[in-house]
Amino acid sequence: MVYHVMIGLLWAWFLRELWGQFNVRWVITAAVGSILPDIDHIYYFLGYGKRDSYAQQIFSYIRASEWRHLFYFVATGHKHLTSLSYHNIYTVVFFIISAAAASFFDWQVGVVLFGAMVSHYIFDMTDDVIQLGYINSNWKRWGRPKK
Ligand SMILES: [Zn+2]
Repeated sequence: MVYHVMIGLLWAWFLRELWGQFNVRWVITAAVGSILPDIDHIYYFLGYGKRDSYAQQIFSYIRASEWRHLFYFVATGHKHLTSLSYHNIYTVVFFIISAAAASFFDWQVGVVLFGAMVSHYIFDMTDDVIQLGYINSNWKRWGRPKK
């Protein structure tokens, strides 16, 4: 998450260079935008994914207060959570188009926000490739995996 914010801020800094002006609102927007896509995780655990074995395992650790197990499970297993509905290439394309449209209409906050969100997904994908050697299946489909 810290990485996400750092990359978001890098994006804000890049735009500052590009536009030759600075606005503190952009920094905040970039930071928020860079972590916004991870609402998907919260939504997964509380909503559409709560019956998945991955989510169930985490709940059972929490219920049993087995924090060490929980930490280990999340640290080693989160890359294998492939059921996120909105971490996919379609969402990324959508926000790239949104950022381009915002730029076209000189809506700078929009460019900052959508661009920061795109940076989040690109980081996640790069992280997949580094840790797994490939991108997770959730990137290639829209919505929930078919059982
Ligand atoms: Zn993410």
